[in-house]
Amino acid sequence: MKIFFDCDETIITWDVRLRPGVKEVIGSLRDSGHEIYLWSGNGPRWEIVRRFDLHDFFLDCYWKPLYRHHERLEELGIPFTPDFVIDDHQEVVDAFGGVRIEPPAHELSKDRELWRVYDVITDHVKTLKGD
Ligand SMILES: [Mg+2]
Repeated sequence: MKIFFDCDETIITWDVRLRPGVKEVIGSLRDSGHEIYLWSGNGPRWEIVRRFDLHDFFLDCYWKPLYRHHERLEELGIPFTPDFVIDDHQEVVDAFGGVRIEPPAHELSKDRELWRVYDVITDHVKTLKGD
């Protein structure tokens, strides 16, 4: 699947710390053959990719449409429709399908949300395959 991760409060905290599990979970998804992209309502976030050395994890970065989500993909230069999105905002999840993620826990070392998301994605894939 083409899986799009939101940036703020999804893979990083409000004060720009990398959330636990980003490399492990996205690495596993890539190993399973998924195409993983990063998008954000604040624009393509290459500075985050560089800062946390995530070049091996995200194939590309895009602007995320915040309204008229499907209609605006083309004008934002996104060449395909996401199959599955991970976002802390329900609207984006409702628009494309996916899973809402809780913002990072205050005690970041105890944050397990990305592993929960991983389980949701693998269950979704099993359902698609009819397993
Ligand atoms: Mg966000």
